[in-house]
Amino acid sequence: MDAEALFRQQCTTAINEDGSANAERLMALVVETYRLQAGKKRAAEDRSRLLVKENGELKGNLVASKEDLAEQKRLFGNVLDNLPQGLSVFDSQQRLMVCNIRFRQLFGFSSEEASPSASLGSLIAKIRGNERGEKKVSRLRDAASEGGHIRHREWVMEDGRTIQSVITVLPDGSNISIHADITEDRKAAERIAYLAHHDPLTGLPNRIRLRESIDAALAGRKPDEHIALVHLNLDRFKSINNTLGVSAGDKILRQVAERIRMSAGAGNVLARLGSDEFAVLQSGRQQPWNVTALVDQIRRELSEPFFRGDKAVELSVSMGIAISPQDGTETDVLLKHAGVALSHAKSSGGNGERFFTAEMEAEIEARHALEADLRKAVEREEFELHYQPLYDLGQQRICGFEALVRWNHPTRGRVPPLEFIPLAEEVGLVVDIGRWVLRRACRDAVHWPKDIKVAVNVSAIQFTNSDLPADVAAALAEARLAACRLEIEITESVLMENLDEALPILHVLKQSGIRIAMDDFGTGYSSLSYLRRFPFDKIKIDKSFVNGIVEDREAFAIMRAIILLGDALGMRVTVEGVETAEQLALLQREACDEIQGYHISPPRPVVDVPDLLSQPPEHTSTRAS
Ligand code: C2E
Ligand code: CA
Ligand code: CA
Repeated sequence: MDAEALFRQQCTTAINEDGSANAERLMALVVETYRLQAGKKRAAEDRSRLLVKENGELKGNLVASKEDLAEQKRLFGNVLDNLPQGLSVFDSQQRLMVCNIRFRQLFGFSSEEASPSASLGSLIAKIRGNERGEKKVSRLRDAASEGGHIRHREWVMEDGRTIQSVITVLPDGSNISIHADITEDRKAAERIAYLAHHDPLTGLPNRIRLRESIDAALAGRKPDEHIALVHLNLDRFKSINNTLGVSAGDKILRQVAERIRMSAGAGNVLARLGSDEFAVLQSGRQQPWNVTALVDQIRRELSEPFFRGDKAVELSVSMGIAISPQDGTETDVLLKHAGVALSHAKSSGGNGERFFTAEMEAEIEARHALEADLRKAVEREEFELHYQPLYDLGQQRICGFEALVRWNHPTRGRVPPLEFIPLAEEVGLVVDIGRWVLRRACRDAVHWPKDIKVAVNVSAIQFTNSDLPADVAAALAEARLAACRLEIEITESVLMENLDEALPILHVLKQSGIRIAMDDFGTGYSSLSYLRRFPFDKIKIDKSFVNGIVEDREAFAIMRAIILLGDALGMRVTVEGVETAEQLALLQREACDEIQGYHISPPRPVVDVPDLLSQPPEHTSTRAS
């Protein structure tokens, strides 16, 4: 294949594979041809001059060279006009030498305007559009082009199109350019950039965009200026998603976004960081007054009910606030501190806001340390179970024990469960701890008399993050303990957080012969409604209800009503936190089934169980009488 045929083939391939990525390749080919052309032309002229001068006989050869040239010119013209891109060649004086039809179309030049020897300056002046952005310049790589370079220019036309020019400037100053309409590519790129920086549900900027805005705000901050970052999280949004469904949840989130947007106003940046998490960046204001006004406004807006059909949904929000420079001068630090303040707002019950303080960070660090220790404790089994008697008022004897976990920390000593169970729940470790508790409790109880039960507390996380029925069955089988001797205590949170998932698990457990108790009855939001959803074997009235039953008629009336309710539903009733003989006597008169509390015994190590069981009931029955 000769050089021209090869060139033709290469051009066709480059043209067929569309896209601007090929522009540079195509350009390289055109440059090559241009050089070939120029080289051949010069050679032919030199040769003809020589021939004319020296040997008239060889005239025929000169004609052949001219024919060659004409054929090449025709071929070149053909290729040019079939290019999907515009092409132009200017000489070292910046006069147009060659261009194709597409070049004229792209820039809207007439044939007269873009005629040979038109100046580059006059053509640029006629472009109906403006040049955009900085020009990218890169050196030409091959040795022959030493001193040449490639430039990229971009034109935004009045009709909205974007045209890109890739200009190869040769060492002598002449240049060859490829021009392409990149409007669609640009739109796609803009769309991708938008998606990378925005949340698709609300259209708000996302975390990446927020970080960029904080970066910019911090970089441009004047010495006396403050920048406030508010991190917001809706309280209990998960339960809204669970009860109303995800699509209703999404609609509410959009309304929430709109209300926060209205409160934040145009000057502040609002972003959505996660499912029910938002952030507002307020810059250039005096603080903390402005951000206080802002969070008040947001709280007011969000306290109005949201409507789903005719159903009103109430929401509340927790907010954490960090202010630069005092709470941090770097984006990461500011974000972290607003998050720390938010988790404090959350852990104090939600529906409130907190400004970041240094003490908060110390607390968080202590928590991290505790978490690390807790992970080790799980591996090393640093736990121990204490047992607190459940006392049957009818039979006047102990009928079971509640297993209560303790953590024997290597340096801190014994850590009570209320200090580590909530943390273990948050970080998921409660699944492993709970599994250990189940196995230990069953293995302990199998040594007790057959009519003595063991009660184990199970957290809501164990219902969602583990196979609870399998764990329970394994613990029973391993200890060879009869299922009827095990009682599982759950709180309302198990049902509140995921009713649809928890109910079938509870039924499976109950069918296997295990008894299910509702713990801390009366402390939650809707203990009563949950009693209708599942046939609990037992309800344990929370210790807060015992306070005052002896002196306060109202407290007594409430206690009596709950005992009657349990009776009516056929559930056993246990009253927790019984500390005095008077309380015991009163409860016995009210036909309460069981009590638990310091009056009978505090939780004790397993070795004390035989003693507790063998003690005559005199200390209880005598005081009860
Ligand atoms: P709970 O299930 O309500 O356990 C009863 C708590 O009340 C125990 O606290 C017990 O020591 C205390 N108590 C018993 N009698 C009295 C009394 O007469 N007066 C007063 N004021 N308090 C009394 P403890 O052992 O500190 O346990 C606290 C909570 O920790 C438990 O509350 C339970 O929710 C959780 N917990 C304990 N062990 C486990 C466990 O193995 N797994 C899970 N998930 N949670 C556990
Ligand atoms: Ca309990
Ligand atoms: Ca309880």
